[in-house]
Amino acid sequence: MSDHHTFVELIRDRVARTPDREALLLLPDSDERGRPSPVSYGALDSAARELAGWLQARGALGERVLLMHTSRRQFAVSFLACLYAGAIAVPAPPTGGGRHHAMRVAGIVKDVAPCATFTDAALAPDVSRLLAGCGHGSVPCLAADAVPARSPWRMPELSADTVAYLQYTSGSTGAPRGVVVTHGNLLANLRSIAHALDTGPGERIGGWLPFHHDMGLVGQLLLPLSLGGTSVLLSPEAFLKRPARWLEAIGRYEVAVSGAPDFAYELCVRRVPEEEAGRLDLSGWRTAVTGGEPVSASTARAFTERFAPAGLRPGALTPCYGLAEATLLVAAQRTGEPFTVRRVDGAALERDLLREPRPGRPERGLVACGRPAGSEVRIVDPESLRALPEGEVGEIWVRGTGVAGGYWRDRAATAEVFEAVTGDGEGGFLRTGDLGALVEGRLHVTGRLKDVIIVAGRNVYPQDLEHAVQRIGSMFGPGTAFAVPGERERVVLVQELRTHRRYGLDLPGLTADVERCLAEEFEVAVDGVLLVRPGTIRRTTSGKVERAATRRLFLSGEIRPLHQRLGKELVPA
Ligand code: ATP
Ligand code: MG
Repeated sequence: MSDHHTFVELIRDRVARTPDREALLLLPDSDERGRPSPVSYGALDSAARELAGWLQARGALGERVLLMHTSRRQFAVSFLACLYAGAIAVPAPPTGGGRHHAMRVAGIVKDVAPCATFTDAALAPDVSRLLAGCGHGSVPCLAADAVPARSPWRMPELSADTVAYLQYTSGSTGAPRGVVVTHGNLLANLRSIAHALDTGPGERIGGWLPFHHDMGLVGQLLLPLSLGGTSVLLSPEAFLKRPARWLEAIGRYEVAVSGAPDFAYELCVRRVPEEEAGRLDLSGWRTAVTGGEPVSASTARAFTERFAPAGLRPGALTPCYGLAEATLLVAAQRTGEPFTVRRVDGAALERDLLREPRPGRPERGLVACGRPAGSEVRIVDPESLRALPEGEVGEIWVRGTGVAGGYWRDRAATAEVFEAVTGDGEGGFLRTGDLGALVEGRLHVTGRLKDVIIVAGRNVYPQDLEHAVQRIGSMFGPGTAFAVPGERERVVLVQELRTHRRYGLDLPGLTADVERCLAEEFEVAVDGVLLVRPGTIRRTTSGKVERAATRRLFLSGEIRPLHQRLGKELVPA
């Protein structure tokens, strides 16, 4: 990888060397005996060249092209075609339906003003309607496999500084923002990932994560292609319908590296029963990446226990930390390093210090997310901007060639987020908005700056409250804790129950259980508890909890709880 300046050079080199090797192995979406369909490097390249020729004939150099595919093959072709043509690929969520999805896509379309949209034949009518609905009806919207191939492709002039694609953030904390990723950023980050995970062309890499997210795009498609290996792909829908499919695919197709956010591991524990787990073969799964959201020690424990009979290696779970603004990866546990949960004193953590637990006092477990991979990491006091020593919690700042240069056409946000200078005058840092601490060189992520709830001067992390409530019993599903600002911050928990029916449930009793749990474990007197049906809490398309959006729904009275208990100050006048 080291002697290439662009992803196009790199991939064309792979094509020239091994045209017949499988670039993609696409697994069938149903359980019926469908066969996986392979796509060779040669076939991928020639399809991408055809489409790139079409783009070049339309003067797409430097223009944005929206990609809305559910077909994983078509996505790969369209994405490469954009890069081959020097156009800027903009992956967007292809489906999702509903107003929320339409608004998300409209936001992206408005932001980037695409010159064309590539989609699947089956989706084209819906996507056209969606584009028309946001005033871009005149932008050509094409089924990528039906584009007439008449114009030959010519290699454009590209450099490490050429923009390859725009990576929209997940939108966990607000509207998704378009991160500008250059070829140089991409190659640097891919190199760091391959090095940190110690992987190469001999290993199959893949999974089911959506391609409009960095973890799916970079980790499961571009990484294997960059190595000249095979990307083994399942659709997100196939996984969600039956999570065991992911694990079966890993066994059957000998996938060595595959990952997902914590919620997916938790889903596997809940939805793959013990008998079924025992029939799987996970002995070849060398690296099970977990990242993209807080890594929970209890999920890790439950997953490791459940799938040990399937041959899951004790050291397979590999916590990683990253974000779209850094292309993908920032820190990773190295192969051979143990999965480590650091027990820390709860009260010290609330004062931003990682200290040894004290006997008889509340503790928290923090999963170590490994060492910085190919970039520099500093922990910085978000107010004084002073760099902090090991063991102190502050904002995670990152610097390196794998870190992107900014947000698409947003100078102000770019300056604020990507051009930070420490109090000691060191510049060029990305402010991640995440909190964490380094201990013995390993990064421990404690939460998001924006999400921290301040209770009587203490910093309380919402995910700690949420996890504690889930541990009360199997009736409690995912929850979202957030603060409602006022004279003092009031703590609200929207808590999903794992049932749609309210009959026979002691809802006031369950509410009291929640209150007692948070009072005993955290000394937090929660001001509002809303017990809601499954699926009420808003999530991003990658399954991450949207706390800010859930808070907005709460404040606008749009949540219909099964039961609620609100403190006086929270009851609408
Ligand atoms: P938005 O920026 O639009 O609010 P997002 O931050 O969720 O959305 P991504 O870039 O996809 O969008 O996700 C990166 C974020 O995910 C990180 O900033 C961090 O908050 C969280 N994250 C990633 N890895 C970890 C991890 N190992 N532990 C805890 N949090 C993590
Ligand atoms: Mg973010």
